Amino acid sequence: MPLYKGLSRRGFVGGVAGAVGLLAFKSPTDLMAEEAVSQARRLRAPRAAEDPYDLLAKLSFNENPYGPYDSVLKAMTGAFKYANRYGYPDGGIAEAIAKRHGVKKENVLMSAGSGAILDVMGTTFAPDGKTVVGVEPSYGYVYSHVSSVRGDEHLIPLTSDYRQDIDALIATTKKHYRNVGFVYLCNPNNPTGRIVTKQEVKQLLDGLPQDVPVLIDEAYWDFVEDPNYETSIPYVLEGRPVVVTRTFSKIAALAGMRLGYAIAQPEYIKKMEPFLSSDAVSAVVKWGGVAAIADTESQAHVKKVTLELRKQTTSQLESLGYEVIPSETNFFMVGLKRPVKPIIDAFQKKGVLVGRPFPPMTQHLRVSVGNPDEMKRFIVAFKEIMASA
Ligand code: PLP
Repeated sequence: MPLYKGLSRRGFVGGVAGAVGLLAFKSPTDLMAEEAVSQARRLRAPRAAEDPYDLLAKLSFNENPYGPYDSVLKAMTGAFKYANRYGYPDGGIAEAIAKRHGVKKENVLMSAGSGAILDVMGTTFAPDGKTVVGVEPSYGYVYSHVSSVRGDEHLIPLTSDYRQDIDALIATTKKHYRNVGFVYLCNPNNPTGRIVTKQEVKQLLDGLPQDVPVLIDEAYWDFVEDPNYETSIPYVLEGRPVVVTRTFSKIAALAGMRLGYAIAQPEYIKKMEPFLSSDAVSAVVKWGGVAAIADTESQAHVKKVTLELRKQTTSQLESLGYEVIPSETNFFMVGLKRPVKPIIDAFQKKGVLVGRPFPPMTQHLRVSVGNPDEMKRFIVAFKEIMASA
């Protein structure tokens, strides 16, 4: 019987079995990790036309185009040995998240992607005629989930410079106070990429009735440079009714692996927890998450290359005469002064996937920052499409 069952098979571990005899001084787990890392590198290199998906420029979902860090791939590969277990060591993921933010484990609620927590906020606080207050456009899944649990929504337009209208959020919440389940603030906002400054967040929290929960979605926190921006996690420690969400899907490139979390007061976590499936997060991504938190060098690298490429691309668009909304994220919006839907379709025909329409901003195109090759393809396609539009 082999020491480790997976080693006797071909498949994910590929030719590792043969190597075991030759390199007996390496543990099976080390060998598996090394093979998976080099396999991932091979997968990342452009391949021949065997998988049409690989050939698309994927600029529609604000993903990290470079894939998980090597340290994360190694950790996840090592964790495959727990695939057959329930009671496995989880690498201390909850502790690692708590330590990163200077909070206690009781303040952390983990989920298979932060989207699951956004849903649970709706289910917990805004079902059956209760209301979510937020701006439009924003991360619309929050509003659609509230509708799906028969809740309601009060959506406020953005200001003329595409910012979130804090005065209006406060006034609307006060007006509908009895019915408001929670307020949603996406910061930075998706799809515009604009931030709410730390002063504005304080203004909002000070201005709202003290018992209204506020969901602050910081999915793109890692990409912000503006010194007027700050995380809202300290408000949780102050005892405010704030739920802050974060994700491993963006800077850590784990969108397909599903890991996110909320930082909140334990009383909120206790209310939300029953609606979340406690075992939805896999052993593999838990270990990947721990490694991603530790790998600050890779985080900084992804941030640097992404922001450089964003600035380069948006300058090109501006020099072509298009208005770009100032973004603090790994995506941006460009004003086209014409309906965006046919333009999105034209991009798709060229194998470039860009963001969907975000009503009421139906003349703006949202573009994720991909890798250098994808951005080159985007600019070439943009010039061709706009010239013939
Ligand atoms: N919040 C915002 C603002 C997003 O843009 C996204 C995904 O694009 C999410 C949350 C959900 O991310 P995930 O469920 O992958 O953590």
